Amino acid sequence: MRFTDTTDLATWRQTVREFVATNWKRGRVIDEDDNPLGEAQQDEGRVKEWLDTLGNNGWIAPAWPKKYGGADMSPLEQFVLSQELTGAGAPTSRQMLNLVGPTIMLHGTEEQRLEHLRPMLKGEVAWCQGFSEPGSGSDLASLQTRAVRDGDDYVVNGQKIWTSGAHRADWIFMLARTDPDAPKHRGISYLLMNMKSPSISVRPLINLAGTHIFNEVFFEDVRVPVRNRIGEENRGWYVGTTTLDFERSNVARVVNIKKQVGRLGRYVQARAGSDSGVPAAYRMELTDRAVETAVCELLSFEVVSIQARGGVPNMEASMNKMFGSELQQRVDATAMHLTGLAGQFREPAGLEGEHRIRAANNYMLSVPATIAAGTSEIQRNIIATRGLGLPRG
Ligand SMILES: Cc1cc2nc3c(=O)[nH]c(=O)nc-3n(C[C@H](O)[C@H](O)[C@H](O)COP(=O)(O)OP(=O)(O)OC[C@H]3O[C@@H](n4cnc5c(N)ncnc54)[C@H](O)[C@@H]3O)c2cc1C
Repeated sequence: MRFTDTTDLATWRQTVREFVATNWKRGRVIDEDDNPLGEAQQDEGRVKEWLDTLGNNGWIAPAWPKKYGGADMSPLEQFVLSQELTGAGAPTSRQMLNLVGPTIMLHGTEEQRLEHLRPMLKGEVAWCQGFSEPGSGSDLASLQTRAVRDGDDYVVNGQKIWTSGAHRADWIFMLARTDPDAPKHRGISYLLMNMKSPSISVRPLINLAGTHIFNEVFFEDVRVPVRNRIGEENRGWYVGTTTLDFERSNVARVVNIKKQVGRLGRYVQARAGSDSGVPAAYRMELTDRAVETAVCELLSFEVVSIQARGGVPNMEASMNKMFGSELQQRVDATAMHLTGLAGQFREPAGLEGEHRIRAANNYMLSVPATIAAGTSEIQRNIIATRGLGLPRG
């Protein structure tokens, strides 16, 4: 058992650190230490320039083959890259690329890979995920959006909901029912639809923090060429679960949590012995978060070790997602306790010191973490049935 880098990985980590120091850190709009618990403000132009630089190195999807724009790296090298970029607060990927990209790589035809992967890496095409529907979230296989074959096209009618980034997306990867008479998991197909097609409407949904992230999307007789189907007709459920496994394998979350716990520690240290010192009970609470973060890191190592052996984590991805998202919420609650009233400022621009903290913002933004990509209850069901072999409830 070995949790340290090999010599090669340590050299690679150093290379990435130097690259980040030269290309990202320099000229930051806001230094992280100036905004101890909030996200660093990021200028859109700089983010684009940075992602273009990453893309030119093949570092946006480093484990993809070079012929699709990757860098032929091992999953472990990719993990180190992700740890270092996330740790530095640098963007790592394009919208939904980590979900749809690997799915096309695994289940798509060569023609589909060549058509879609490079434009996605270059940021020429942004994607969104059309899975959930008003009556079909946890019970996703009950979805009702219909795709009816008409010559070389499918004609799609129906509605999706909670579609993150649909208002900025050029394409949507979606699940639609192609055989209404088959058992529900066996009548679904996985389609790629151009969002510029006629008769698609996107309506915004504003979240608790007042931010526009997700949307409702409506389809009225939208035509999708049959060649844009990923995998076999009526076998789309199994393609879709691969997408979900990739979504739940997110190993960058724990890097952010670790950073946040570290900053909270510094916050407490800076106040030790002063009038604004933090009560002992909250110090204990922060200690619990630090221990849980160490556990979460081990879960992410397990996900990566399965990927390194060429597998797609399933139950392990659910454990990682469930534990990480619940921990994120606990850390944000701890931040609220530690920072008290100073953490309540919603718009800290122009404020000084501890008033820039934005703990309340982070607290609200973490509420959906245990819902998105399948709720904690659904992850527990997966772990119970596929992991522990327990009967269905
Ligand atoms: C921030 C955010 C972004 C999202 N982005 C997208 C996106 O881009 N694309 C997309 O397709 N979807 C997206 N979603 C939707 C997300 O996948 C669903 O919200 C989620 O799967 C839950 O479905 P639901 O909202 O219909 O809740 P429901 O399925 O109605 O669940 C309601 C409650 O019942 C519980 N429950 C349901 N079934 C069971 C069961 N069998 N056992 C135990 N408890 C159960 C659930 O855990 C939950 O607490 C997003 C959601 C959020 C919060």
